[in-house]
This record gives sequence, structure tokens and C-alpha cells, in this order.
Amino acid sequence: MLIAGGLAFAAGSVAPRDILLRGGRIAAVLPPGQGPQDVPRFDASRRLILPGLVNAHTHSHANLMKGVADRWLLEASLTHGPWMGGQRDATTMRLSTLLGAGEMLEAGCTACWDLFYEFPAPTAEGLRVVAEAYAEAGLRAVIAPMVADLTLFEAIPGLVEALPEDLRAEVTRFRLAPADQTLAALRETFAVKPDLPPGISLALAPTIPHHCRPDFLRDCRKLAEDFDLPLHMHVAESRLQAVLARQVWGHGPIIEMDRHGLIGPRFTAAHGVWLDEAELDLLASRGAGIAHMPASNLRLGAGVAPLRAMRQRGIRIGLGTDGCNSADSLDMFEMTRLAANLSRIRDLPRDAWLDAREALTLATEGGAALLELGSGRIMPGLAADLTLLDLDHRAFTPLNDPLVQAVACNAAGAVKEVFVAGRQIVAAGRATAPALQDIAPLAQAALAELHRRLAPARALAQRIEPHAVAFAEAAGRAPLPAFSKIPVETAFR
Ligand SMILES: [Zn+2]
Repeated sequence: MLIAGGLAFAAGSVAPRDILLRGGRIAAVLPPGQGPQDVPRFDASRRLILPGLVNAHTHSHANLMKGVADRWLLEASLTHGPWMGGQRDATTMRLSTLLGAGEMLEAGCTACWDLFYEFPAPTAEGLRVVAEAYAEAGLRAVIAPMVADLTLFEAIPGLVEALPEDLRAEVTRFRLAPADQTLAALRETFAVKPDLPPGISLALAPTIPHHCRPDFLRDCRKLAEDFDLPLHMHVAESRLQAVLARQVWGHGPIIEMDRHGLIGPRFTAAHGVWLDEAELDLLASRGAGIAHMPASNLRLGAGVAPLRAMRQRGIRIGLGTDGCNSADSLDMFEMTRLAANLSRIRDLPRDAWLDAREALTLATEGGAALLELGSGRIMPGLAADLTLLDLDHRAFTPLNDPLVQAVACNAAGAVKEVFVAGRQIVAAGRATAPALQDIAPLAQAALAELHRRLAPARALAQRIEPHAVAFAEAAGRAPLPAFSKIPVETAFR
């Protein structure tokens, strides 16, 4: 097929280009009118053609939890974690995944890294349900079961003691599956690897450093080696986590993860708001990556990650939304806008700010590299994952600079067509997969039933929340001596 007549972002610039697709790949990028005449044509006049956006971090189980919270900091979110991800069956897992896949596709995203959660442990069936849902929707996905062997209350020293006595008794009953049980479940789950549908791959996500005992971390690393999987962890997301790391280990969490052999070219750290210079240097020297999530970091009051300091060191960066329980929206165009604009508030000189091109490159090529997709650009040989935007949409009216407007003008609403591996899966702005039609009422009904089942656990979390938040706010204010070295504006003076 020849996608003809559009403006395409390729080789660093936007220009009129025709794109020839063959066998799911981009076969050629041609000057207008120079493509073969004997192939089917897709009329892309009045379209801006971008590589598909890649969401480098989300959580499919959280898609049913959009808007459950307003003023939650991370530790409040983690307090509510058990009920938000609990009581799932195949139907709710499928609907939750489909809802997110549809939202991402219609906002121009062609792939996501999904850190999905099953309680008490991952299952092959759960993984298969999620994988099939993505495959039916047409979205590429790297699916990483999220695991830990310590609860929030076991992980944070002093938290249990900060609770009133009646709640202390309740939370000490919280238990995750024992480590060996979780590891056995993971082995069984990963055995489905050879049978995964096309476009779906696996990874492993030990949730948060201090939620995993050292032995468990080492076993996770071994498992990732055995099954040839990348690793993804939430690291230094909240200030409290950075404080705890110094209290427990005497150094930052990346240094600790490196001691257990986890940091390498196939390691992605999510957030990294509170990483210090030594940790950034280490990530860079190991070839590791960071999923930058500006919306989630703002939403949870976590702070602004030092993106330029990360980029300056050559750390590989992708952009992510995070889950609907902490970012609510899965709009990757919003992430490019936030990443660009937030890069300007750390008192950096103007040359250090992200411009539209760099933000969009992180959201496409950057994410694709972290997901090991081998795509993310419009160039011959790469997968034909493309997003077409309507230049008659108000985001581009009037048209001055299509690339800047794609980033700065909330362009997700302008998405008209999406191709994944050369197959059109969004038409006239709507995802076309049969599985995605009319799922809203089904999801709403499933959610009502889920909320009924989750009510007791939710009520308990609501009682714990104010105490957990008060503890996190107080403990998180402790001095951080290592942060004299936090990368700030001085890097550029
Ligand atoms: Zn996350």
C-alpha cells in the first residue's frame, strides 16, 4: 500500500512524503508522486503522519479505576492498591485491558508497556487474557507481571507503628504470596511465551525496590535471564522512597538494585524523580532506561523528574502515562506536551529545554527502544506503526508548524487513522476491532459488581489512608544529605 499525499515526520523534519508499506514494514519513504502506481493507495492529503506513539509505562488493571482518587500521594495510592487490583476475574481483566487499549489507540498510541497485577500471584491464564485482549485490539504490548514479596506495611519501617492499634492488627494480617510461590507462578506464567500472539512480548516487573527482599530480587533477575526478558521497576518515585533508601541501605535505590545485578541495558526505571547524580551516572554507564511520567508525577505530588540531566548523560528515555489510578488519562500527546513544558521549570537555560521535536522523539523512538520494538521512526525497514492526524482539526487550525502544534495543541483529538504493522486499526478516529465496540456498558456493569466485592477492602484502606499519608509526609521530609548532589540547574552553569 502507498500512503500518499501527507506530511510525514521523518529524518528529523516534516515534509510532503509518500510512504510505501510492504509486509507490515515501511518499504520506502518517497518524494510525493514517486511511488508505484500499481499498489492500493491510502489518501493521506490533509494528514500529518507520525510514527506511532509508545506508552512506556501503564497498568491495565488500573483502567477500571480512572478517577477513583483526587488528592492521593503515592503512599495513599499504595494503601489503596490491594483493593484496586483485587478480586479480578478473566472478564474484568479483559474489559480493563480493552478499555485502555481502545483509549490509547484512539489517541495515536501503537504500543504500551503494561505492568499488570494479579493478586495474590500472576497466572498463565491472566497473562493470556491480557495478551489476547491487546492482540484483538491491535495494540502492541510488552506485558510485565508486577510482583513483590513485601506489603507496603512490611516495606516501610515505622509505618505500622504509626497506625492506631485496631488498624495495626488489620494490616499485619496483610500478606502477599510467599516469594517461592510467586516465583513458581511466574515460571509457569512465562511458559506461555512461545504461544503469545504476534505483537505481544513479556517482561518482569518487581514493583518497587524496598517492596522486594534481596533474595527475591536476585531470583527475579535470574528468572528474567532464564526467559530472556527485560526488567521494569518503579524507582525513586516519591521523596519518602529516597529517604527510606538512605535509612535502610545508606544509598539510593539504583545503587542497591545494581548490587543485586538488576541494572543493565534491559532495565527500565519508572519515574526516577528523586534519583541523585550517582544513580543517574550509574544508569547511564549501564545503558539502562527511564520511563518518564510527568502527568503521574504531578498528579501524585511526587515532583518533577530531572529529565535534562538524564538526557545529558545519555540515559535512554521513553514517555509513559502510568496507570489510570495515578494519571487517569492515557493520552500520550498530553505526555509530550507536559514533558516539553515541565523541562522549563528547573531554572535551566533555554537551550536545555525540550522542544517539540525532542519531546515527540522520546514519545516514539525513545519508547520503542525501551520496549525493544525496533521501530519508532518513519524509515525503510522499520515496522509500519503510524499515526495520522487530521490537519483540519482545530489543533492545526490555522496551520503554522505541524510538529509544534502536534505537541502543544492537545492533538490527540486529531488522530484519524492508526496503522500497526501496516494494518489499519483506527479509522475516522475510532478503533475498529470488534472486541472494542460497545464495551463501555459492559465495563460499567463489571465495575459495579467489582466495587460491591471490593467495598470492605476499600473501606479499610480509607481508614488507613490518613495515617499512611501523615506518616509519609512527616518521614518524607527527613533530610537527604545525598541530595546536595541532586542534578539541578548548576549542571548548565
Ligand atoms: Zn506505575
